[in-house]
This record gives sequence, structure tokens and C-alpha cells, in this order.
Amino acid sequence: MGTVFVINSGSSSIKYQMVNPRLEGDDAIIATGLVDQIGQPIGKYTLQHDGVKTERIAEIPDHAEGLRMVEDLFTEVGLDLDEQNIVAVGHRIVQGGNVFDKPTLIDDKVVEQIDELSSLAPLHNPAHVIGIKVARKLMPNVPHVAVFDTAFFADLPTATRTYPIPQEVAEKYGIRRYGAHGTSHEYVSQQVPELLNRDPDTLRQIVLHLGNGASVSAIKCRKPIDTSMGLTPLQGLVMGTRCGDIDPSVVFHLMRTAGMTVDEVDHLFNRESGMKALIGSNDMRHLDEMIKARDPRGLEAFKIYVTRIKHYIGAYMAELGGVDVITFTAGIGENSEWIREGATDGLGELGIKLDPERNAGHITEPRIISSEDSKVIVMVVPTNEELAIARQALEFV
Ligand code: AMP
Repeated sequence: MGTVFVINSGSSSIKYQMVNPRLEGDDAIIATGLVDQIGQPIGKYTLQHDGVKTERIAEIPDHAEGLRMVEDLFTEVGLDLDEQNIVAVGHRIVQGGNVFDKPTLIDDKVVEQIDELSSLAPLHNPAHVIGIKVARKLMPNVPHVAVFDTAFFADLPTATRTYPIPQEVAEKYGIRRYGAHGTSHEYVSQQVPELLNRDPDTLRQIVLHLGNGASVSAIKCRKPIDTSMGLTPLQGLVMGTRCGDIDPSVVFHLMRTAGMTVDEVDHLFNRESGMKALIGSNDMRHLDEMIKARDPRGLEAFKIYVTRIKHYIGAYMAELGGVDVITFTAGIGENSEWIREGATDGLGELGIKLDPERNAGHITEPRIISSEDSKVIVMVVPTNEELAIARQALEFV
């Protein structure tokens, strides 16, 4: 039995999972953990295995040292990495641009190409490159595979991937809708027909990936025909700290009248907006508390959040010519009954009706939450991006 090590490297953190790609759901996860606050005076690294979480606090000078510390932690809990029969390493890469439309075996040239795409994902791709370099040194004898968040959307129709600006400019600078969270949208939209025992080639689906980052996709007969994220993961829904859709003129206005620099506006939209701006926290549990307390700011934020989702449900129903299944997934989609309820409330005329009992609580296994008389099936299907990445990496073994 071979295992796959999955790495998601950020600028100051590395998330990792060791996965058995032949098992399903949580059974597939052998170990999971995080190296956090790399480069800070005090950092933290963790490993969770068999329900037990081991945590260490230490200065972690760089990504290389962080991964070495994780290796020691594996040995400490009796999971010596050398004995885990790791057959591949899968790397989550946010931006594949026009260069990568499928999982790709990593060599020096691929690393260079991922780095060259950094202008399209300045917060992500440079950090991925560091993670790849470090992991290739630590595990040199197995294939390393890059799995791109954008790949699922590489063949979006011209009508939805094109921004109506002069096309010479668009082509010269690689400006198009690339989408993101593709691994999750693909995984969930493949699970749905299997779970419902329906033919995927006739199914019209809307997938709502609602996590700290959030996106929605419209899928017709297996293929995505539209998605809410754009050139970068900033477009679309209201997110934890990102504003989602906004008139581009707000940028010009802030630069001209508030004297902000382009980096300041970038920071404002990516890091200080969304739920953080509306309720002071990017954690939806905080919103749940505010709603329970009937806090007016919380109720207002809730309306803003769910109205944007409804906007996309309506738009994608029109683009698909109707919808058969709407699926909620990711941290908020799986855990917040308020958001699922609010996002579908009042859509009975469109054939969408939830069953309050089925919708109640945190949902950890796939479940239908629509009522018997709902024309559209509404589901919750927990996503598992790491498992999807591991399975794609395994194809190169
Ligand atoms: P993800 O990016 O998929 O890991 O999702 C993270 C988001 O899920 C954060 O905004 C969390 O606050 C949210 N979340 C996690 N647990 C809950 C919960 N019990 N109720 C509401 N939101 C939750």
C-alpha cells in the first residue's frame, strides 16, 4: 500500500496531509498537520494522527527547517516517514495560468513556469515554489506532482472566460477568467452523480464551495461552464477577508481620492474586506453567534452574504437552462445551517426547497437536505481536496 504526501505551501505556513488514496473520506487521512508562523520569533507545528494532536512551539526560521521539524514529529509519534511507503508528493498550486491544464510531473522547468505565473497569483505561487523546492530535497526519490486549482476551468467557454477588454491587451497579459478551487469543484461534482446514482452526462449542477475563500460553479454534463472566481480568487462571492465582486472603479476612486497605492488597495480588498470588514471576524462561527443574539450588524452581514449567493444561483440557473442539483461544500457549506437556509430561502418558485430537519446542524457525510417536494435536489457533500490531489498525483506513479 502506497501513501501520498500532500503539501499546500503558503508564504508563512505549510499545510500537509498524508493520505491513503484508496480509502474514502476521513478514513483516507493517515496524518494531517500544519507548520505555522514560519520566519516569526515564535512558530508552531502540529501533527494529528489517530485522533491525537501533537503540537510544538518553536522558532521556525524557514520552510526547509519547518518540514524537517515535521519529519522529526512523525518519528516521535511512531510514524517514521521512511517507513510510510510514500510513493508520490502532491503539491496544491493555485494558479496554472494558460500553461497548465492538468496535473503535471514536476521538474526544474515546471518549477520555473509556476514561478513565472506569480504575477497572476502573487500571494500564492511564490510560496508554492518554495514548498516544492524544500519537499523535493526532503523526498528526492518519489515523483512530485503539481495539481492546479485552475485546471478544472481551463476549458471554460469563451463566453464566460473572456473579459470584454481589448483582446490584444488580454492576450499580452494573460487576462481571462481562470477560476479557482477547481480541485474541490471537480471532486464534489463527480461525487454527486455517484451518490444519487444519476447519469453525470445529463446532470446540471451548481456547486457552492463556501469556505474562508468561496466560489460557485455551474457544471453541465461534467464540464464547468462558468465559475465565480476570475483572474484571481478575488472575484465572486463575499469571502472571509475578500470582497468578491466590486466595481473596478472603486480602485481608481480610492487611488485618486484617498491617495492609496495599488498595494494598499490590493491589501484592502484581499485581506481587510468580506466578513472581516462586515462583522470584524472572518470566522463564520462569530456570525452564527451574532445572529443568535439578533445583533443588527450581524443580521445585515448575513443578508449581504446570502444575497450574493442567490445572485449566482439565479444567474447560473439561467446559464444552465435550469438546475438538477445544488451542492454545498467546504467549512461554511458543511457546517452552517443558517447560511444554507439563508442562501435558498424564498427560492420555492425556482423549485428549491429545504427540509429544515435534514438541513440541521453540521454535516459530515453526504446528505440530501431538500424536501421531498423540492424540484431541485439540494445536497451537502463534504469536500476533500487533499484526497483529490493525492489521487491525481498517484496517476504518475
Ligand atoms: P475552509 O476554508 O473550507 O476550511 O472553511 C473555513 C470556514 O469555515 C471559516 O470561515 C470557518 O469559520 C467556517 N466554519 C468552520 N466551522 C464552522 C461552524 N461550525 N459554523 C460555521 N462556520 C464554520
